[in-house]
Amino acid sequence: MNNEQDLRHDVALANRIIERFGLSAAFGHASARIPGTNRFYISTRRSPGLADANKLLTIDTDGKILDGEGTPNSEFWIHARIYAARPDVNGIVHAHPLACISLTQIGQPHRVVHNQGGAFADGVPEYERIGLIRSRELGDEVARSLGKGVAVMMRGHGISTAFQDVRAATVAACFLEESAGLQMRMLAAAGGDARKIRAFTREEAILVRDQTGPAGKVASRAWEYYSAAAEQKPLGG
Ligand SMILES: [Zn+2]
Repeated sequence: MNNEQDLRHDVALANRIIERFGLSAAFGHASARIPGTNRFYISTRRSPGLADANKLLTIDTDGKILDGEGTPNSEFWIHARIYAARPDVNGIVHAHPLACISLTQIGQPHRVVHNQGGAFADGVPEYERIGLIRSRELGDEVARSLGKGVAVMMRGHGISTAFQDVRAATVAACFLEESAGLQMRMLAAAGGDARKIRAFTREEAILVRDQTGPAGKVASRAWEYYSAAAEQKPLGG
């Protein structure tokens, strides 16, 4: 992908995917770095399900709005400060998926319990402070919690994923919620006893990450599915 319009199309589609697949409803956003710059495309302040490739904002890592019409999402600082801290990251999703939020509120870290969870073999750190990320300082805090990782759980709030492109960040967000949903079901089936869950060992998790992780070949197949399905689903999933 080389041109601006393709990247804009991906950003809008990523936003619609996270809404159509129930990761966010009225709130949440996906963005992509403009390659080789400190600037990124992000949707305007409306449901991600309504994102439009021709109505994106261009914002830089200092939070300056450089192009586009409309109001920025109040939490654009998550994107700005992760891009500032992580030159390797070119795509970010911030969403509010219910199973991930539930895990944070019962004090359970994410565990790899099926193949698509392998992307998170190195663990998903938690950002414990509640509330919205509406300042540069809080954006920096989230970036610090993320560290060199690919995702961060935000307690009572949601998740942020950070990958080499917006497609992988979007697929990863879907995988993380699927994984957290399974973990919740397993916990319930096990009477709430986390020790009964046969979570993958680190070696097993790395094996399935290499086979099915969103940074690998599977990303294009998963993106093909999620994007095609998102175009078919009605607003509201
Ligand atoms: Zn949020």
